[in-house]
Amino acid sequence: MYFDYAATTPPHSEVLKTFEAVSRDFWANPSALYRPGLRAESMLEQARLQVLKLLGAEGKYRCVFTGGATESNNMALFCSARHFKKRGKHLITGAVEHPSVLEVCRALEREGWELTVLPVNGCGVVEPETLRQALRPDTTVVSLMHVNNEIGAVNDIIELGGIVKEESNAVFHVDAAQSVGKFDLSLDGTPVDLLTFSAHKFFGLKGSGALIMKERLELPPLLYGGGQESGFRSGTADVARAAALAKALRLSLENRAEIYSRVELFKGKIAAALLAIPDVELNGTLENSSPFIINCSIGGVRPETVLQGLAEKEIFISTVSACSARKTAESAVVFALTGKHERAKTSIRISFSSLTTGEEVDTLCAEFGPLIDALRFKKK
Ligand code: PMP
Repeated sequence: MYFDYAATTPPHSEVLKTFEAVSRDFWANPSALYRPGLRAESMLEQARLQVLKLLGAEGKYRCVFTGGATESNNMALFCSARHFKKRGKHLITGAVEHPSVLEVCRALEREGWELTVLPVNGCGVVEPETLRQALRPDTTVVSLMHVNNEIGAVNDIIELGGIVKEESNAVFHVDAAQSVGKFDLSLDGTPVDLLTFSAHKFFGLKGSGALIMKERLELPPLLYGGGQESGFRSGTADVARAAALAKALRLSLENRAEIYSRVELFKGKIAAALLAIPDVELNGTLENSSPFIINCSIGGVRPETVLQGLAEKEIFISTVSACSARKTAESAVVFALTGKHERAKTSIRISFSSLTTGEEVDTLCAEFGPLIDALRFKKK
């Protein structure tokens, strides 16, 4: 029983079929001018257009295929910061961003940019007023995530982006790795300039993602070379991966609303089971958060022992996000919203997808309480 879909999802069989068929039938270099190359290019452009249409971005945004959200975040931040440096060298991000945003901002800070890291409130979201007060005439890049990967907190990116546009000339970047394919997300008429996502979060392939960027933004590339992807990302384009990404996105959006409602029920059920256990506190709130992720701290119990106890029953959950699971003993995200080391050291994350079943949820609910009791009893 897998409850770590926020870390990754298995590729959909249709996505694998598309990847195989396109790899086999459209393997020519899409930059080549002979017929097989032109056919590959046409397949690539079809995938690009489909992604843009599915995100309500057709005609106003470009889609640059990348090696995933980490690359998209690096590209968005390094390229826009460098491009607008004459206008100003002040960057803004949030305290609970993914390392592929925070670490890039820190790298830019070391290169001479000034960085403001906005605190989050007790729900894990950036308050509009906090952002408004941090914006300055020399702010050139603001990067805030849509859905947090550890606690599922949802930033109101429309309101936050609106403030960025009202109060500054900054570029607004959104890391939407945890919302694309799950949320009703259309870029049409939004203040978002750059949007990041990764295909493996919605049953696509790993090492595959995109950066969606406003048509008028002419950023310098991160990777220099042959000028593929309209010059934004050099390197021979992976047509099959692009087609697979478009397929994964289309499939995940097909029953999106129904899946969303179903996991909402699952989250409610698990929250009730968790809160019935003494000394368990939810990190983040049930309202204004993603139904796909639930996070809590379990007082007096080491999270690794909870993971282990559940793993012995073939139930797989995680502590902090997979990206930091092997590095830190405490969750920087949980600390940012609670201010308590104990909470940050004892947090666990459970995440769902369309593949999660009611029986799995019932099993998890039934196993959780007795396991925590047993672990606490053992300690005594
Ligand atoms: N941003 C967020 C919010 C994420 O959850 C992840 C994946 N954990 C990433 C960025 C990075 O994605 P990838 O590992 O596919 O590059």
